[in-house]
Amino acid sequence: MGTSVTGRFAPSPSGYMHMGNLLAMLLAWLDVCALGGRIVLRMEDLDPVRTTAEYARTIADDLRWLGLDWDEGWPDPAYAQSSRTDLYEDAFHDLERRGLVYPCYCSRAQRLAASAPHPGEDHRDHGCRCQYLTAAERSALEAAGRRPAWKVRVPDETVTVMDGHYGPFSQNLARDVGDFIIRRADGVYAYQLAVSVDDMLMGVTRVVRGRDLLDSAPRQAWLIRTLGGTPPEFCHGPLLISEHEKLSKRLGSLSTQTFRRTHTPEALLGQLAHLAGLLPAPEPIKAKDLVPLFDWDKVPINDIPLA
Ligand code: GLU
Repeated sequence: MGTSVTGRFAPSPSGYMHMGNLLAMLLAWLDVCALGGRIVLRMEDLDPVRTTAEYARTIADDLRWLGLDWDEGWPDPAYAQSSRTDLYEDAFHDLERRGLVYPCYCSRAQRLAASAPHPGEDHRDHGCRCQYLTAAERSALEAAGRRPAWKVRVPDETVTVMDGHYGPFSQNLARDVGDFIIRRADGVYAYQLAVSVDDMLMGVTRVVRGRDLLDSAPRQAWLIRTLGGTPPEFCHGPLLISEHEKLSKRLGSLSTQTFRRTHTPEALLGQLAHLAGLLPAPEPIKAKDLVPLFDWDKVPINDIPLA
């Protein structure tokens, strides 16, 4: 590993942040501060339908309000995924030239049916036969107006990510994941490609985020290696759960915007730090005063119920 540590905040401006997002941001910030590194703020605003500039501004403002500052990034457009399409296109063409990309004409319904969880199931092709289509069959589908999504062909290879909090996590890409979409039928580059290209080109060495994304880490490590980069170290954190459900942006009552009306930043940080195992009681505290208290060993492994 190089000497410089670079972490990132990578929010999707598709809604207001909730406590779970804030916990992930706090852990990412503390991790980098404790290692003496720098942090970039990247807006993951790829999806023009679900994300808005207003949410992006609010998220950045919430981070500043909490004292979770960043060294570079948004609002510089070079750190907004919506301005980075050329870079995703270069990576896409690189994979395409190496014969790793093929069009997939499956409908959304077919994909949803194929991705329904069946434990132990072989995901090799998700019931998708598109990689075997002949040129004539593809032309016929195109002529009928079908627009394909684009999938990357994964190897029959086990990729192990050494997660800093959850330990080794392995997936055989072909069996456990299967070929996956890197560009949607509407032309929008998919999360897996964009995040891998960005982490690689932004020199990110530490990816700290919620445990729900651990499942994506082997795919991202493989994509980065395939594109000629060095994968970052991954460190996933526990999720906050409410009534046994992961928090989502739909639960508006738990959004930062609500807390900002009733809490000081110090009070909210104290609650988050207490939930994260860093403080014995939810006492108000400033972000910078949490740095010396930070230790991944104190952070729970299990998801954290919100009272
Ligand atoms: N933008 C993603 C989200 O907000 C996070 C991506 C990542 O951390 O890799 O869920």
